[in-house]
Amino acid sequence: MTSTSDDSLFDGGCACRAVRYRLHGRPLFVNCCHCTWCQRESGSAFAVNAMIEADRVSLVAGDPEKVATPSASGAGQTIARCPQCRIALWSNYAGAGESVRFVRVGSLDEPSRLPPDIHIFTSTKQPWVVLPAGVPAVAEYYDSKQYWPAESLERRKALRARAGR
Ligand SMILES: [Zn+2]
Ligand SMILES: [Zn+2]
Repeated sequence: MTSTSDDSLFDGGCACRAVRYRLHGRPLFVNCCHCTWCQRESGSAFAVNAMIEADRVSLVAGDPEKVATPSASGAGQTIARCPQCRIALWSNYAGAGESVRFVRVGSLDEPSRLPPDIHIFTSTKQPWVVLPAGVPAVAEYYDSKQYWPAESLERRKALRARAGR
């Protein structure tokens, strides 16, 4: 396993290793989503997504295929998948647009480095999933100003300024 000593870098990729990527810096925030859509898409009980600026994600190998996929909001999402093994690597949602990627934490080489910062949509959480004490949990979604660290809010502000939004 390739592991870097730089703790601001996070490497990941698909199952067949045709696609490899690297995150440059820690994510803005890590959501663990217990909504029924994430359960269906993952085939599991929840999805863990690290939100990070698109320009902090570099492709090391391969070229993910973008698959248009319905989303809970109705606005849709684009899931970047390996063109060979079809593993999902990240999503872009209509709300945040192209500039923020929701990277699947399970596709990182060391997912344990990015535990959830918050649990969301716990209203539809599977009853056997027991949430850890000390990590925020909300029934639906949340106001980022209330939960994100100041540094992440600053980064998002800079991103929006760059995007002219
Ligand atoms: Zn693959
Ligand atoms: Zn979800």
